[in-house]
Amino acid sequence: MKTNIHPEYTHECDVHCACGHTYKTGSVKNELRIDVCSQCHPFFTGKQKNVEQGGRVDKFMKKFNLKIEE
Ligand SMILES: [Zn+2]
Repeated sequence: MKTNIHPEYTHECDVHCACGHTYKTGSVKNELRIDVCSQCHPFFTGKQKNVEQGGRVDKFMKKFNLKIEE
């Protein structure tokens, strides 16, 4: 491995999900903010969820007064 080009792997990383769930993991960052985690992802919950809620698409639609057709 080359020296001085690898980020330091800090073992304690707080992950904050948009659903409110937080957990610790290992990362090169101290804190991560994510949109979806294993506690709220539809694959794990078995429920349908609008993952774009409050996201970029939502902001875009509000800005131009548009509605997502269902
Ligand atoms: Zn989550």
